[in-house]
Amino acid sequence: MSLSLAAEQPAPPVDAEDGAWLECIECGETFAPFADIRYTCDECDGLLEVRYVDLPSLDDFEGRGVWRYADALPLDSGVTTQEGATPLYEVPRLENDVGVEALRIKHEGMNPTGSFKDRGMTVGVAVAKELGVDRLACASTGNTSAALAAYGSRGGMETLVLLPAGKVAAGKIAQASLHGARILEVDGNFDSCLDIVQELAARGEAYLLNSLNPFRLEGQKTIGLEILEAFRDDYGAFPDRIVLPVGNAGNTSALYKAFRELVQVGDLPLEDVPKLTGVQAAGAAPMVEAIENDADEVRRWDDVETRATAIRIGNPVNAPKALPGIRETDGTAVAVSDEEITDAQRDLAEEGIGVEPASAASIAGLRKLRADGVVTDDERVACLTTGHLLKDPDAAAAAGSDPQPVPNDTEGVLEHLHE
Ligand SMILES: *Cc1c(COP(=O)(O)O)cnc(C)c1O
Ligand SMILES: [Zn+2]
Repeated sequence: MSLSLAAEQPAPPVDAEDGAWLECIECGETFAPFADIRYTCDECDGLLEVRYVDLPSLDDFEGRGVWRYADALPLDSGVTTQEGATPLYEVPRLENDVGVEALRIKHEGMNPTGSFKDRGMTVGVAVAKELGVDRLACASTGNTSAALAAYGSRGGMETLVLLPAGKVAAGKIAQASLHGARILEVDGNFDSCLDIVQELAARGEAYLLNSLNPFRLEGQKTIGLEILEAFRDDYGAFPDRIVLPVGNAGNTSALYKAFRELVQVGDLPLEDVPKLTGVQAAGAAPMVEAIENDADEVRRWDDVETRATAIRIGNPVNAPKALPGIRETDGTAVAVSDEEITDAQRDLAEEGIGVEPASAASIAGLRKLRADGVVTDDERVACLTTGHLLKDPDAAAAAGSDPQPVPNDTEGVLEHLHE
């Protein structure tokens, strides 16, 4: 495993382009970023990362949202609907109840299409334009398809999405549909959808915008930059821990990359790197299994099930980037039950924050780790909530209270209220 917080800024290869290049995390092979379409290494099929000739410092950024961080991204501007700059809510009651020094909720559901996927798409779709492709595709548990459809339309490109039939929340399909994606429902789970769309991309049918695409993770890296800047401003220190739901582990990889780059420029001392803490649903927890068994590779789970459909994933493609991130930051991974997820969804709702089930996994995981003593009471913690409540109206309605039928007159309503 070649990824490390202690890695020096690498020397740019001859084929760096616009101040950036692609590098294989397994064999170190380098590629010009925009010369050809590729998603993995030509030599060894390893995952690729974007590297920069000059990395900016945290104090260099100006503006608002994802493109505030343009100097840390492969392009100067993107196909944008003003994504990023999401709220970092205080939750005093929940903070007290969980029992930590500070708890903040980074609500990524407040992005334009209601999930953090927008941050990746604003960059990924811009790169697709740069490459001159006209058809974009993804496999999705829902939110990636909503974001791809919206950003693809905005960029004037055709979009194709492959979804596991019957396993995508209603709000997400509605978004993909109205934004004009061609929606293919596959009789299989997310992992089979991804296998198929990777084949389509390899045959040149479409440009792949799953998180296997290294450019998408660059956009998602800005979540980490926003959290670190805000904690520094509010507490004079970076967070001790960032807790997030894990599906394909793209965000985990993206946050780890943000940390590595800040360490390289000298903005983040090694001892201050936040502990990356991943949470999965018990019915889809291959990353947790790998962390618990101290395994080098993640075993693919063929059967996965959870009501947190956004993280119903058995083969996390970014595991080779995310496992070293969790381990090297002294973080961990934990599995939570669907009941714990729904309880956490209610906890957040009581603080006025509406999230979809997968997002609530972060709070459920934090609670569990605090109860186990892995998280201590002196920690300052940021929990990532990845998607908005309205993404999955059925889950929200099931977790909340039922509407009560009343007669069509005030007396009748009063009678009902006083019953
Ligand atoms: C995509 C998604 C996830 C999983 O994120 P990864 O980066 O694949 O680990 C979690 N929650 C929501 C709501 C999502 O849309
Ligand atoms: Zn390689």
